[in-house]
Amino acid sequence: MKLVLANPRGFCAGVYMAIDVVDQLLDICPGEPIFVFHEIVHNRHVVERFRARGVRFVEEIAEVPDGSIVVFSAHGVSPAIREEARAKRLAAIDATCPLVTKVHAEAIRYARKGFQILLVGHRHHQEVIGTLGEAPDAIQIVESPRDIPSLVVTDPKKLIYLTQTTLSLDDAAVIIDALKLAFPEIKDPPAGDICYATTNRQTAVRAIAPSCDLVLVVGSANSSNSVRLTEIAANVGTPARLIDDASEIDPKWFAGVETLLVTAGASAPEDLVRGVIQALVTRCGAEVEQHDIRHEAVEFGLPGTLKAAMRDRGIDPSGRRIVRGDDGAAMREWFEKEGIGFRTVDMTVRGETMSG
Ligand code: SF4
Repeated sequence: MKLVLANPRGFCAGVYMAIDVVDQLLDICPGEPIFVFHEIVHNRHVVERFRARGVRFVEEIAEVPDGSIVVFSAHGVSPAIREEARAKRLAAIDATCPLVTKVHAEAIRYARKGFQILLVGHRHHQEVIGTLGEAPDAIQIVESPRDIPSLVVTDPKKLIYLTQTTLSLDDAAVIIDALKLAFPEIKDPPAGDICYATTNRQTAVRAIAPSCDLVLVVGSANSSNSVRLTEIAANVGTPARLIDDASEIDPKWFAGVETLLVTAGASAPEDLVRGVIQALVTRCGAEVEQHDIRHEAVEFGLPGTLKAAMRDRGIDPSGRRIVRGDDGAAMREWFEKEGIGFRTVDMTVRGETMSG
């Protein structure tokens, strides 16, 4: 069996930053309880690992004792949550991904200009709940074209759509086309809201999956962008399985599979991908090839609220950021150490690099 590794896959800049925030807090506040509102990122292993280091995850601000440290997750929160945190005098550290914050800012800006906003996304996703909270009177949520007949639009000239950052590009295009058909004057967002990481991981699956017999996506079931990768594979006619880690692999899946694509959602750690590769090589003698579709060079700095907390503790925030190493070099070293045959196939368009 040939195992093709999609590149890019796994952690995005927002996830690196959010995890870095909690890591830094554990470092600068030894012994202090650290609470995180909602899962810091949607990955079971990431959450369990932090839990094992003493971090407590809550779904209500009321669960956090007055005056404690609370981290807002990468998905962002509504102003009502921020207000609750203020009322309890919590030291709030904001690990919201800047690309989610951008959508919040657009919602605020267009609501202030008197626009009605159609927010394309999943109603119960933490990110959509947060964005909705910025302008609840101006925003209506659209999950599918079926929602369009029940929308209440008072002035079709003052209408804009925004989207959740982690949608399927295919599904979003269908919904947006339907919105444009129903409301021809609807405005596009100033810049596409589906983020670079979601776009790149989906682009890689769309490019590689058609030549594969099966796709394995490493990610958790509550990770929107991971689930979307399985859907993109299915859309191009290749069955896909979502797995949290190697322990969920069922050897029965590989009957008749000659080429397998492995990818990972934006919140899935690379060590879990390596575990999957190792299991497949051991069980099926897979040969590994990485297909580079795009190179990414996006990084976010530590949030201002964390830097302020560092200064309050007499710590200089400059240089505190965990610098990412060269993922490609680390991977090559790992393959060598494990004695696994590996080669890279450059499928980028003129070495295209995404800078976000
Ligand atoms: S998937 Fe996109 S929006 Fe979400 S944390 Fe990553 S970069 Fe930010």
